[in-house]
Amino acid sequence: MQFDVIVLGAGAAGMMCAATAGQRGRRVLLLDHASKLAEKIRISGGGRSNFTNIHARHDCYVSDNPNFCRSALAQFTPQHFIAMVERHGIAYHEKKLGQLFCDDSSQQLIDMLDAECRDAGVDRRMGVQVGEVGRSDAEGFSVATSIGTFQCQSLVVATGGLSIPQIGATAFGYQLAEQFGLPVTKLDPALVPLTFHVDDAARFAPLAGVSLYTEVRVGKVRFRENVLFTHKGLSGPAILQISSYWQPGQEIIIDLLPDTDAEAWLEERAGSDQLLANAMGELGWPKRFAEAWLEGQGANVRGRDLSPKKRRQLAEALHHWRVLPNGTQGYKKAEVTRGGVSTKALSSKTMMANDVPGLFFIGEVVDITGWLGGYNFQWAWSSGFVAGKNC
Ligand code: FAD
Repeated sequence: MQFDVIVLGAGAAGMMCAATAGQRGRRVLLLDHASKLAEKIRISGGGRSNFTNIHARHDCYVSDNPNFCRSALAQFTPQHFIAMVERHGIAYHEKKLGQLFCDDSSQQLIDMLDAECRDAGVDRRMGVQVGEVGRSDAEGFSVATSIGTFQCQSLVVATGGLSIPQIGATAFGYQLAEQFGLPVTKLDPALVPLTFHVDDAARFAPLAGVSLYTEVRVGKVRFRENVLFTHKGLSGPAILQISSYWQPGQEIIIDLLPDTDAEAWLEERAGSDQLLANAMGELGWPKRFAEAWLEGQGANVRGRDLSPKKRRQLAEALHHWRVLPNGTQGYKKAEVTRGGVSTKALSSKTMMANDVPGLFFIGEVVDITGWLGGYNFQWAWSSGFVAGKNC
């Protein structure tokens, strides 16, 4: 059976692309191996989906070439997606930092995209196993599936990344890229909790659940947000953000008091009899955290025990707590995959492969990884729209 366009993967990017192409009058087949539509949208943002960020711009993305996403983000902006959400009467709100969430449920977005596809005449089939993909200059692409073999002029790969394999993530898109000679950059879990070495894990395990406002840094990249202690290491928005930049073997540096001059604060307690662990409650620190953290510095230390030199050292340690993670919690806990189909092999204006006419890659399968906060969905909408206009 012949189609103009086949889109592989009915997730965020695939649905946006299929609807856009269908609206242009293209005959579109949208295929997915999962039985349920767009599970990642459904589970996103705690069930309310952080569906865009009004501040999305190219420097909020990690890639060998972050400039690559400029064109798609300009062609389909957060405002364009918001207009679609409003047209469908979906109520939303800004939580913080430009992050927009549905008031009610992420299912509304899935229904919206499904309706857009339906209205555009897209033929959507779920639970379809996709097998061999072939191409000839004369006939375009052939896609063998569990429900038959289909032909098309344009093939759009929107099969996403490797995170959360339990809901259908596969490496299919990367394998297809390699089959057609497109390079794939190194893949890693990103937006993912980091794990401690054994010694630190034992020391901080009792702190699981403690959350602190910090500034976390790797190299020149820094994020001010909360850090959350887990049974295995560190999580929370600041850690998830920095994980997308972290490389194994690298230390992360945590400023535990980003809004306080620690040396001045310690000086104010120079003559005090109070245990420092208790005084740290004033800084918003839970006592159990102060005790565990001060263990390395002498847990029973009091203000009056500190010499000026010791105060300076302690202040330095508070502003530059150095942590050497031993790894991440992997794809089972990662929100996204860092790396993907190399942007060098794609046109940023159309998302088509430079050397394979008619073959497009969109969404997370591409080497574009957004920050936490709605940036990844915006990339899915923008890249999906652009491919939908050109496939
Ligand atoms: P996906 O949405 O993953 O869609 C890929 C589709 O391809 C899936 O339907 C899959 O079944 C299908 N597929 C895979 N392999 C095959 C195959 N071999 N054959 C056929 N079909 C296949 N981002 C945000 O911006 N905001 C958030 O709030 C947010 N929350 C998240 C929460 C969690 C728990 C997770 C895991 C991710 C979250 N993300 C969030 C990231 C976001 O979900 C992804 O970046 C986005 O879904 C990527 O869109 P995509 O269309 O490229 O891939």
